[in-house]
Amino acid sequence: MARFSGANHKELINHLRDTGSIKTDRIYDAMMAVERGDFTKSNPCTDAPQSVGYSTTISAPHMHAHALELLSDKLQEGSRALDVGSGTGYLTVCMALMCGESGKAVGIDHIQELVESSVKNVKKQHYDLLTSGRVILINGEGRDGYAEEGPYDAIHVGAAPDVVPQALLDQLKPGGRLVLPVGPRGGKQVLQRHDKSPNGKLVKTELMNVIYGSLTSVDNQCPDLWK
Ligand code: SAH
Repeated sequence: MARFSGANHKELINHLRDTGSIKTDRIYDAMMAVERGDFTKSNPCTDAPQSVGYSTTISAPHMHAHALELLSDKLQEGSRALDVGSGTGYLTVCMALMCGESGKAVGIDHIQELVESSVKNVKKQHYDLLTSGRVILINGEGRDGYAEEGPYDAIHVGAAPDVVPQALLDQLKPGGRLVLPVGPRGGKQVLQRHDKSPNGKLVKTELMNVIYGSLTSVDNQCPDLWK
């Protein structure tokens, strides 16, 4: 199927709404406010993942929309969100906008260079989110989560681990939700939702088959980075 290409960001986001990837005004407003062209130079208005170096991509816009729809209930004024494998920072900023002025979104990625460029991306039109601390971008091991800013109402993972990292389940608030792909690279990967009930019980739902890169070590992702 041909990938949709818009003439500009507005056309891309309108397409996502017209074709059902964006279902609600909150997601529409958030994604409209975060210009994909600030986060990738290559084909920013095409509904497809784009390489951003370091053996990784910015996810396809319809996958960003889907992730935000799945977490929408948990991204409310004052919510705390964690975006594991934040890459370009695109989704982290959308999450922060949905969490409002009293909320916060933390992005964590294990490639230092990607974290530095994500800060530059966010500065272009959303500098205030960085200065106010509504967006925090951290270089670190995503499988450990980021307990310093937790617990979280919403956790999104943009790469697939082989098994669900226990730290991420532990860092969910009661009533919180984790959405992540699970499974080996190139093998069967399933998008999962884990809901923590108010009494702390976890309920897992398998949503659909997906294709993501791996939530893995730096060496495994970029064997030549340190050589
Ligand atoms: N959602 C982001 C990026 C998705 S690609 C976007 O759309 O821009 C997945 C990201 O996960 C990559 O940036 C990769 O560097 C990161 N990643 C992979 N394994 C990781 C790990 N163990 N800890 C932290 N980040 C990791």
